Amino acid sequence: MEKTAERLAQIEVRIRTAEVCHNREPGSVTLLAVSKTRPADVIRAAAAAGQRRFGESYLREALEKIGALADLDLEWHFIGPIQSNKTRGIAEHFHWVHSVDRLKVARRLSEQRPETLPPLNVCLQVNISGEASKSGVEPEALPDLARAVAALPRLRLRGLMAIPAPVRDAGEEVVRAPFRRLREALAALNRDGLALDTLSMGMSDDFEAAIAEGATLVRIGTDLFGARD
Ligand SMILES: *Cc1c(COP(=O)(O)O)cnc(C)c1O
Repeated sequence: MEKTAERLAQIEVRIRTAEVCHNREPGSVTLLAVSKTRPADVIRAAAAAGQRRFGESYLREALEKIGALADLDLEWHFIGPIQSNKTRGIAEHFHWVHSVDRLKVARRLSEQRPETLPPLNVCLQVNISGEASKSGVEPEALPDLARAVAALPRLRLRGLMAIPAPVRDAGEEVVRAPFRRLREALAALNRDGLALDTLSMGMSDDFEAAIAEGATLVRIGTDLFGARD
């Protein structure tokens, strides 16, 4: 467990260093600890070391851990693919969802968000690398989806998320290109009158490149908790 605290400190240093290197405002990048597949006691150790935001991809597993850790003041982010029959659990138990890519799911989340909770924070997942990925809204369809989601009463549209297709031994420029496209897509939506503040991009292998291109939230699992089975 001590290892978790040490790794957390190392990641924090890498994030702050990347901010400085790329002229980002200090503290402008938030760490989301991706805790999918990790047991509750590992999350508890990270929380004891000061980490508050955790990302989960599998609803059933997530709900068990959210229940087991209810004594802690944690912020839960759903980042996995969303089947429409799973929206209620997300609407009732999460603070954020990063992987909304169609209106049907957004409508259900809005309808099912309890009145006792603040609006659910939402990022739209964009298929930024083209054919290589199946999930995410196509960039051409993004403006219409964003306008429709922004109008739903129990959701608060915050920004965009992407998982670029993996590239092998690629240069910095190639790694950064999809992150730049996501940043430009966000800027275009804001020029159209939305007020989005979140770019959820960058994982263990590429988060420094994502910070260079404007990430405000990086989602890190492996570098923090070790390889998943
Ligand atoms: C698993 C996952 C991550 C974390 O990936 P690592 O490479 O382990 O850092 C980030 N984002 C999403 C959407 C994931 O599913």
